[in-house]
Amino acid sequence: MEPRSVLVTGANRGIGRAIAERFVAAGDKVATVYRGGELPDGVLGVIADVRDSGAVDAAFGQVEAVHGPVEVLVANAGITRDQLLLRMTDEEFEEVLDVNLTGTFRCVRRASKGMIRMRRGRIVLISSVVGLYGGAGQVNYAASKSGLVGMARSITRELGGRGITANVIAPGFIDTAMTGALPKERREAYLAAIPAGRFAQPAEVAAVVEFVASDAAAYISGAVIPVDGGLGMGH
Ligand code: NDP
Repeated sequence: MEPRSVLVTGANRGIGRAIAERFVAAGDKVATVYRGGELPDGVLGVIADVRDSGAVDAAFGQVEAVHGPVEVLVANAGITRDQLLLRMTDEEFEEVLDVNLTGTFRCVRRASKGMIRMRRGRIVLISSVVGLYGGAGQVNYAASKSGLVGMARSITRELGGRGITANVIAPGFIDTAMTGALPKERREAYLAAIPAGRFAQPAEVAAVVEFVASDAAAYISGAVIPVDGGLGMGH
């Protein structure tokens, strides 16, 4: 297979890093739009904040000049700003939406240009089990992550006839800095609720992303694919 031009946002750490490593191992040309930090070997990094449309467009331009039009976009960059509803400020709500939902939109819009021209593409949006399950203290985060489902399904209806798929991956509890920051009681409560009886490693999400981006998954689009050890069954 020809190496593909793959772009993963936020590949400097956590799940994004594992996804980038997986595509590098598969022989693809892998780039990331990131804000700083160390990157895995073989990943082309361009600095941009997904909150800035102009910076995102320019970063895609730089990546495409080296690797060619992006064929696989993995929109992974995301944040939490947990707070109880009554105490949540406009800023806490808007910041999470700006990164997780609007930031993803900015990347998808830019990536779609080349995909439409090529008549092929894979768009993979990293959501969360919380998007459909909900989470106390996570009104902002859950709203941003469930918004990705509507986004992927609308892209599927708009671009599905042009060889482009758009899918949502909904990870459960993955061992990264994001979950490491949770209080011990929250971690224990999650663990008790997960049928698999354990948290997952970022590589377990990366394996599913690789499949959804593969030729074998050409007929899967608009799907929400859980990687959550059974936590969200029945969504
Ligand atoms: P981390 O906090 O470890 O990593 C988040 C990544 O997003 C970092 O690379 C970070 O960059 C990047 N990022 C954040 N804000 C921006 C921004 N404005 N512009 C560009 N990049 C940004 O989180 P995870 O690896 O755990 O999470 C990755 C994705 O998976 C997120 O979307 C998260 O919501 C989702 N997820 C995670 C779960 C988990 O259990 N860990 C469960 C379900 C979903 P920087 O280093 O510069 O901050």
